[in-house]
Amino acid sequence: MILDLIKKNDEYRASFIPMQASENILSPNVRTALSSDLASRYSLDFNGDDGYAGNKYFHEILDNIYKNVSDLFSAKFCDPRPLSGHIAASVSLYSLMENRKVMAVHEDNGGYPGYVALQNLLNYNLISIPVKSGSIDYDAMEKIARSERPSVIILGQSEFTMPYDIKRVYDLSREIDSRIIYDASHVLGLIAGRRFQPDALRYSDVLLGSTHKTFFGPQGGIILTNNDEIYKKIEKNIMFKFMDNYNLSRFAALGVAVEEMLRYGVEYASKVIENSKKLREYMNERSFNIPETESHQLLLNINDLKAKDYDFKSFSYSMERAGILIDRVGRIGLQEITRLGYDDMYKISEIFYSVYNKINMGISIKDIVRQFKIMYW
Ligand SMILES: *Cc1c(COP(=O)(O)O)cnc(C)c1O
Repeated sequence: MILDLIKKNDEYRASFIPMQASENILSPNVRTALSSDLASRYSLDFNGDDGYAGNKYFHEILDNIYKNVSDLFSAKFCDPRPLSGHIAASVSLYSLMENRKVMAVHEDNGGYPGYVALQNLLNYNLISIPVKSGSIDYDAMEKIARSERPSVIILGQSEFTMPYDIKRVYDLSREIDSRIIYDASHVLGLIAGRRFQPDALRYSDVLLGSTHKTFFGPQGGIILTNNDEIYKKIEKNIMFKFMDNYNLSRFAALGVAVEEMLRYGVEYASKVIENSKKLREYMNERSFNIPETESHQLLLNINDLKAKDYDFKSFSYSMERAGILIDRVGRIGLQEITRLGYDDMYKISEIFYSVYNKINMGISIKDIVRQFKIMYW
């Protein structure tokens, strides 16, 4: 029975210390919204004429989301319909491209693999933003951008630890008549909490992202802009090109998450980044060489792992056996355990250290997990 498996999965996942950079825990209220009646309803079109009946309260929910998202991000326009960050990115690219050139950090340097994969589908060529020792090489970038003149520059990465010199990229983009898409999939909750790149929307044409990584929402995507014309284009392109229905219960859940963010976003984002810096410090005291971070992510150093005959994948498997979930590509995320109210980073560093050195330090995962309690709702 699937229901048995679901119950087993719930218990199984609750037995781990969750540290995957793309995931988070939902508040009980967001979960309630997700399984409400709206989960099987339709709405078509926005603002005013709905092609479906019975949506009186749904439209009240929608109005609320628009108002609250504007407040939260100081954004003039918001489109919360994209079913995922990837769809938000696809429709935004499709709407903003004027020529066939798009500039972004390549996946080999921590960029989003989707921007490589979308080249064929959306018919563009990806020009890599040059990266030097982990951050954008702005001089080299300007040189390439001035000669190639891409119509879109994408900022934002899947490995995302430091904010950009975004004003510099903005000035460059106005000079060469490009549009900036800021892909905040990983850091949306930290931007909402004003603790990471608070000027991201001010210096970009579109800010988009997933609503479920550092943000408190259900899995989904969102697009923000202050530009009327761009908003209209995106709004028109989403429908029937990139999707039809937009999952009404997801909207309801997003609405609840936005309310939680308005109330607790600053406190949460501050604590996430504090924990992230603290864990890095403790791990580096224990012989890891993890690069500096200003976000929810720590990036494992492959040379550290190689010294102990690990790679990202085998280390992740060993960590999983020890009770901590990290992904298979070397990222550690602090957002979920922070939301679970846990902040003993010294203890977490001990677990990493014991797996790294293949020693047993007698730390009880059960004792840690027992202390978890969902916060900020
Ligand atoms: C995760 C991610 C996406 C895709 O988001 P989904 O919600 O999983 O579709 C897009 N861009 C970046 C930078 C990401 O990290």
